[in-house]
Amino acid sequence: MSNRIRVLDEVTINKIAAGEVIENPASVVKELVENSLDAGATEIHVEIVGGGRQLIRIADNGCGMSQDDALLCLERYATSKIRQLDDLEALATMGFRGEALPSIASISKMTLLTAVDDALEGTLVIIEGGRVLKCYGAARSKGTTIEVKSLFFNVPVRKKFQKSPAHDSHAVQKVMTLLALAYPEVRLELVSDQKLLLKAPAAVGLSLEGLSQRIHKVQGDEFHSHLVPLQISAEGYQLMGYIGLPTMHRPNRLNQYLFVNRRGITSHLVSAAIREGYGTSLPAQRYPVFVLHMQLAGDLLDVNVHPQKREVRLRQEQQLRELLQRAVGDALQRGQTSPVESSPHVMSASLLIQQPLPWDLPNAPQAIPKKAPEASPLETLFKPRKPSPCVLTTLPGYLILDPASCEGLGAGDQGLWLVDQRAAHQRILHDRLNAALPPKAIESFGLLIPETIQLTPLEMTTLQDVLPDLEKLGIQVEPFGPQTLSIQSIPAEFDRADFPRILVELAQELQEGHGAGKLLVERRMRIVAKMSQTAVLRRVQMSLSEAQQLVSQLFQCDSPYHCPLGKPILTCLKAETLAKHFQR
Ligand code: ADP
Ligand code: MG
Repeated sequence: MSNRIRVLDEVTINKIAAGEVIENPASVVKELVENSLDAGATEIHVEIVGGGRQLIRIADNGCGMSQDDALLCLERYATSKIRQLDDLEALATMGFRGEALPSIASISKMTLLTAVDDALEGTLVIIEGGRVLKCYGAARSKGTTIEVKSLFFNVPVRKKFQKSPAHDSHAVQKVMTLLALAYPEVRLELVSDQKLLLKAPAAVGLSLEGLSQRIHKVQGDEFHSHLVPLQISAEGYQLMGYIGLPTMHRPNRLNQYLFVNRRGITSHLVSAAIREGYGTSLPAQRYPVFVLHMQLAGDLLDVNVHPQKREVRLRQEQQLRELLQRAVGDALQRGQTSPVESSPHVMSASLLIQQPLPWDLPNAPQAIPKKAPEASPLETLFKPRKPSPCVLTTLPGYLILDPASCEGLGAGDQGLWLVDQRAAHQRILHDRLNAALPPKAIESFGLLIPETIQLTPLEMTTLQDVLPDLEKLGIQVEPFGPQTLSIQSIPAEFDRADFPRILVELAQELQEGHGAGKLLVERRMRIVAKMSQTAVLRRVQMSLSEAQQLVSQLFQCDSPYHCPLGKPILTCLKAETLAKHFQR
């Protein structure tokens, strides 16, 4: 009988390693660009085709490799970045395990063209599935070009679970955005299917000025003009960068960029400390934006907490937390005293539901009716009307119903019914928009003077993917320059002043679940729910008549008890609970 145990061959080992590090084209781009940065490149050009699965080409002007090194770098544990274990602690470069290149080479068809000197001949190596097919002299200026074709061609499992090219391209764009913010002094370009997605000329360096230039290029005018600088240097930490004005808050942490020793990371601690620094100037459950670079002595940092090195643990947490909180507070105060541009996207303070007849709005002369409202269907006449309870009084954010009118609500005996005004408003908006989904036409009005909004490139690509869905909701927006959308028409339910803001929010939300393979309709529903939610962020006290109108509209909805996201709209403080509370 033959032996059953065998040592795996090198190519197989590399393929296994690839499975751990190389998830998608974006991880290839990340590894290769980091190599270019480690090689001292000042210009890096990235091109992808078909989201990167067809082709990834990375060209740099770094130090290049000799012919020997060009062959050696394809071997496992071959690295120029570490010679012994002691080096690990002090390591300033990105990767150090010497496994990226052999891993990528083992699951693709790769060519490597590299030269150490403009005057000397370079080297071309052709590899397929980890095996070197050819190696010969070839011309190239100093630097390295790596082409990765047919990624995962020999990994059937990965091929099967592949995402759409749009999704892959988006992920690459994210990686490049992160790297661009980490290295302002390096010129970076990203081209996807011949479309230029990122063009960041070299900024002056990693300074407030350099970072500001880079943020402007990468994130656009709108983002850039709502930032205040922050710089501290104390207690072993150096922190430098920009934080957003309190008016620029977001529904998630996607626009929180933190770099520790140039490495893009997430840190719960830093995120929370910065949020605390804003105090009450930000609404609850909203997140500030920031782009911050932190330099830490190696002994204040645990890098290897996360295999992909995205999460780091910081030592001396408490000091850092206090330091950050104070610095943010100070920076915001300074930001307020110096004149800053006011946001064109400030939400309107009104929570009133606008009557969807634009020609009734005296302050909206720019609005022209696009479609006349449809006559309400006959059957609604025959539908028994639900009696709507009466409002007793209002509080900021809440309404209290008159107990005498609440008998139909089904809480048994008497009690005190409270309505969450925002959730109620969401339900109403949601139902209105949904009722207008096809086959019925939505009622929208065109803007005589289209409104434009500035977006970050990532927000822009996300929204561009859903333009047809938006159109079905009565929202017509068109690209108007690389980072600008022009809003042509909006649903009558929404306030014009709120709308740019709503779109930015939507882009943010969709980015989180981008390309999750959702059905189109499902995605549209999500957009509707989201738009309803963001339209009613503020909690102000309503007048009694506004409140009554809201409650009447609410009780015309099919499910007046829960908002579109499943949160309760109504709650009842039962008499017995009250009695218990007062120890009766
Ligand atoms: P690591 O980055 O961990 O050392 P890699 O497999 O990513 O491992 O790269 C192996 C080696 O190949 C690097 O240490 C470096 O010497 C060399 N190398 C890779 N990419 C480049 C590049 N773009 N320019 C110059 N040298 C490179
Ligand atoms: Mg590397």
